[in-house]
Amino acid sequence: MSDFSQRVLESICFAGELICKSKRAVVLTGAGISTPSGIPDFRSEGTGLWSYDEPLEVASLTTFRYQPERFFEWMRPLISCIINAEPNPAHLAIARMEHAGYIKSIITQNIDNLHQKAGSINVYETHGTMQSMSCTGCFQRTASASHIQILVEDGKLPICPHCGGLLKPDVILFGEQMPHEAAQTCDLMLVAGSSLEVLPVANLPMQALDRGAHLIIINQTPTYLGVRADVLITEDVAGVIPAIAKKVLNEQ
Ligand SMILES: [Zn+2]
Repeated sequence: MSDFSQRVLESICFAGELICKSKRAVVLTGAGISTPSGIPDFRSEGTGLWSYDEPLEVASLTTFRYQPERFFEWMRPLISCIINAEPNPAHLAIARMEHAGYIKSIITQNIDNLHQKAGSINVYETHGTMQSMSCTGCFQRTASASHIQILVEDGKLPICPHCGGLLKPDVILFGEQMPHEAAQTCDLMLVAGSSLEVLPVANLPMQALDRGAHLIIINQTPTYLGVRADVLITEDVAGVIPAIAKKVLNEQ
C-alpha cells in the first residue's frame, strides 16, 4: 500500500469504513476491472460492442442471423481472450469481501466470468454470459465450453447437438436487461472499473444516491457521477480494491 499517495490512502481507509458500516453493499463492475487480466476494453476502443451510441453493425442480432460466419469471426479473438483470462487481485479481493459477508452481490457489465472464477457467488451479468449458448432452432440451452474450443481452434460455427440449428451465445447484443433488485435496495454501491456510459447500468449509481446510499467510485477515467461520490479514487482497481479489502477484513 505504500506506493499510494496520502490522499489515496485516506480515501482507501474511508471506503473501508463505509463498507464495514453498510448492511447491503453492492459492487458494480465494468470493463476496467478486467483490463488488468488482459481483456481489452472493446467498448472504449471504439469497437462499440455494447455501446448504445456507437453500435457496431457486426455485433447486432441481424448480423448474427444473416451473416453468422462474420459474427463469429468477429467474436473469435474476444472469446479466445476470455477463456484464457484469470481473475486479478481486484476480483479476488471482492470475492473475499463477499465471503466475509461485507458485500451482498456483484453486478457486472462483463461477460468474462472472472468474478465467478475468483470465487464470487452472487454475480448478476447484465450483458449475459459466454458460459452457455441457446439454439436458434429448438431453443435448448447448452454449455459453451466444447463449442467455444472448436470455434477458437477451427473457426467452425457452434451447432446444436439436438437439432443441428445454429447456437447463439447467451450474451445480450443490443438488448436491455433489468438489473437485479439488489441494485434497488443497496445502501452502498462500489463502482469498480466502469466509466458508467452504458445504459441501463449507468443509471444504477444515480438511483442508489437518490435513495441515500453511499457511493464509492474507483475508475481510471472520470465518470459523470464523480462529483457526487462519497469516495472517488482514480487509480488502478487491481491495486486499490485489495487495499480496501484489507481494511474491511481488518488484516493490517
Ligand atoms: Zn437445437
